[in-house]
Amino acid sequence: MAPGRIEIYDTTLRDGTQGENFSLSLFDKVRVARKLDELGIDYVEGGWPGSNPLDMTFFREIKKHCLTHTQIVAFGATCHPGTSPEKDENLQMLLSADTAVLTVFGKSWTLQVRDALRTTLKKNLAIIRGSVAFLKAHDKRIIYDAEHFFDGYKADPRYALSTLEAALEGGAATLVLCDTNGGTLPSEIGAIVAAVRAQFAKIALGIHTHNDTDTAVASALAAVEQGAVHVQGTINGVGERCGNANLCSIIPNLRLKLGKSCIHEDQLVHVQVVSALVAELANEPPRHNQPFVGRSAFAHKGGVHVAAVLRNPETYEHIPPELVGNHRRVLISDLSGRSTISHKAQAFGLDLGKDDPIARKVLAEIKARVHEGFQYEAAEASFELLVHRARGLQKSYFTLLGFHVSDTKRSDMEEPQAEASIRVKVGQQEEHTAALGHGPVNALDNALRKALEKHYVNLKEMRLFDYKVRVLPGVDGTGAKVRVLIESTDGVSTWGTVGLSVDILEASWQALTDSYTYKLHKDELKQQQEIPPADSMKCIG
Ligand SMILES: [Zn+2]
Repeated sequence: MAPGRIEIYDTTLRDGTQGENFSLSLFDKVRVARKLDELGIDYVEGGWPGSNPLDMTFFREIKKHCLTHTQIVAFGATCHPGTSPEKDENLQMLLSADTAVLTVFGKSWTLQVRDALRTTLKKNLAIIRGSVAFLKAHDKRIIYDAEHFFDGYKADPRYALSTLEAALEGGAATLVLCDTNGGTLPSEIGAIVAAVRAQFAKIALGIHTHNDTDTAVASALAAVEQGAVHVQGTINGVGERCGNANLCSIIPNLRLKLGKSCIHEDQLVHVQVVSALVAELANEPPRHNQPFVGRSAFAHKGGVHVAAVLRNPETYEHIPPELVGNHRRVLISDLSGRSTISHKAQAFGLDLGKDDPIARKVLAEIKARVHEGFQYEAAEASFELLVHRARGLQKSYFTLLGFHVSDTKRSDMEEPQAEASIRVKVGQQEEHTAALGHGPVNALDNALRKALEKHYVNLKEMRLFDYKVRVLPGVDGTGAKVRVLIESTDGVSTWGTVGLSVDILEASWQALTDSYTYKLHKDELKQQQEIPPADSMKCIG
């Protein structure tokens, strides 16, 4: 390893899947592993072969894919106290994963040795030494995870250090100090890592932190500042309880704040894509305020901030957003001036000069619409389409010829049944489809999708993941209006659209059609620019 370089070890597929509501199929696991390889992650922990059949299948499956950088690692425990390493079934399973690198974890805390492992302190040391030596003898590189190390160190520093010594005697290449319960603060982590480093100056030290005190990233960085050269974490910080240390924050912090090399500088811009993929597989909306990669991470709203940031981004941004593949967002509200509108339009590749009549037209329209009740802060896709329409660049991908939506409930005991039928024209062809749904909007979406997917296969990648309705009080004697905000994703990016009407279905329809149109419009632009899709960068194994 080059001096000053920090190894990145991802455990999204193992520790990450311990998180509530986060599980991955075999296909998902392979997909994530390949993306992590593209990102330049050094180690990807694939799973615990002894714990379930899926993990074992993963190790077989991933061999069929040629990874260019990542080393796949199998994870497991030291041998059972009642047996020897040679006879231990779990260690055999670990070997049968057939990876060059193995991570084995052992007990560091006297309390855990007595109450969880239920053996003697001396025997635990022999277990660690023997397990590591046995695996190492099979020509494996061994990463030793010292479970509960910080709690163990606080309870009995001499014993905790002796467990590391045992792993070292067994032949471990890296000693990873784990804050398994996540209760240690960064200052303590830093001090303990420094103490360990004083004792083990020549061995590579690693850090594995959990986020129970909301400081997992800070703790990992504190460890690096005290000499740790190997950092474990998960994408988006997924993991059991409050999660693991978030690699999507650790990686940019290491490179941009601590000046450490880890993944290659050019790959930093891809962190966001991997973050979006894992959020998608977790079936959760991406966290907007997630540092570095969230869509609000560089968003500025109205007034003084916008004016200043447009003059000099450093006024309100800690790094240029492009460094991490993100972008500045100037949020559109009724406070927006012409310069904000022009700036926004520029971000979409439309140069509206300062006195451009289109900019004036868009600004007037935005102001009128915001007054009516539209809101564009969370609906940038609708705003972008509005600018394109004003410039006469908006192509129509389909025309509505009519829809009908019904909701039938037959008794108090029965769930209502929503059904929608729709007629649309795509080019010269008329489509007439019907679909059921969970509620009328979902039925309408399903029917529209059915009609359009025949013509635009890329719509299969897209789904709506958030739907918000707000009833706006009527103004000047008019009836109440309903504002619908829809968020959609295609697994790579997310976008928001808006609709407004006195009728909830009409408002939903506006937001839906904007969402579909935006996806089709974006993909068409991408094709014109002949950007190869991200998948073409993968090697086919
Ligand atoms: Zn863990």
